[in-house]
Amino acid sequence: INNNCFPCSNGTTISLSTLSPNSIIDAQKGDPLAFESYWKQMSDECTVVIKGWELMSYYSDSSNMCWFMLPELRDEIERLHHLVGNAVTKDKYIVVGNGSSQLFQAALFALSPLDVPDHPINVISPTPYYSEYKNAINILHSRMFQWGGDAAVYDKNESYIEVVTSPNNPDGTLRVPVVNSAAKGKLIHDLAYYWPQYTPITYEADHDVMLFTFSKCTGHAGSRIGWAIVKDIEVAKKMVTFVQSSSMGVSKESQTRAAKIIGVICDGYQNFKSIESELFFEYSKRLMRERWENFRGAVEQSKVFTVTKYPRAYCNFTNEISETYPSFAWLKCEEGIENAYNFLRKMNICAREGERFGAADSKYVRVSMLVMEDEFNELLKRLSNAKIE
Ligand code: PMP
Repeated sequence: INNNCFPCSNGTTISLSTLSPNSIIDAQKGDPLAFESYWKQMSDECTVVIKGWELMSYYSDSSNMCWFMLPELRDEIERLHHLVGNAVTKDKYIVVGNGSSQLFQAALFALSPLDVPDHPINVISPTPYYSEYKNAINILHSRMFQWGGDAAVYDKNESYIEVVTSPNNPDGTLRVPVVNSAAKGKLIHDLAYYWPQYTPITYEADHDVMLFTFSKCTGHAGSRIGWAIVKDIEVAKKMVTFVQSSSMGVSKESQTRAAKIIGVICDGYQNFKSIESELFFEYSKRLMRERWENFRGAVEQSKVFTVTKYPRAYCNFTNEISETYPSFAWLKCEEGIENAYNFLRKMNICAREGERFGAADSKYVRVSMLVMEDEFNELLKRLSNAKIE
């Protein structure tokens, strides 16, 4: 596989080097490439130089329970949440991880009871749920936890862990816990998309375990930096133990870069009169709004699909009323098409099948809204010309 090619979900290798009408558009992954042009403009401000002798130790901060977290990253994460107002960090513990994917497993490890190892706790989330939760759990065959499926129908009188993803991947809905069971449950709030470009910031989240990721906040998925904000010190300590045992910490090069870029965003807001370019969340929100408006236009023109309508709300960060602009579109095909994935595939659009998110039927499909600009424009062109044969 060369740099311009990668495998599609059906196993074929696709190329992104040219965008002819016949080229395949890969809109199935959640790769957040849409913000690349912003970071190109900010190239110099965000450059980090690391010398050959620097950052050699495993340790970052021996005085912190999360000993592998660089203090400058912790400071910038706190500063960012304070700026945006999307999560309470005061009196909480921050744990850094190799993406929030690693912290999801760390949280499961920390929240699962140790005294009943032959009776794994059920991990549940309402359909449609982020497909990787199930995969990440099933791959481990753990004796501590198991995938329990749709939280909306969970009625076992057994303890559980519910994953609350808000805004949700794949359908962009805003969620709260749904389980209605007498049994005791624990919650993991996956707030990967609770940033102003995707949804109005309506409250300062203050949940027991909250997961955030650099991947979706700024688009730097390749750095593999995520963080958890945790209320209970014992849970935080176990999560640190998990990251320690699975990867002996988190790359300090990546942490340095993440701290730098988050710092540039925050500096922009603090000194905004002296900055020429658009501020990051203004830019990214405008981009998402424009993409969604054009996308809805294309979908309406073809009359082949319907797309979820989102409520409007006042955003405490941008001080304006706006919609949610999710990073994925959750499309449903109209009568006459049985399989939405196959329909798009015939148009050389690679999407992710609804069934992978636990959706009941094949009429649903997830399409990434964060692809590169040329791919997005080609996607619009093809969607607006789609016809039921
Ligand atoms: N949670 C959700 C809801 C996601 O969509 C993703 C990425 N697709 C992740 C977690 C994982 O993000 P990371 O890159 O930090 O592992």
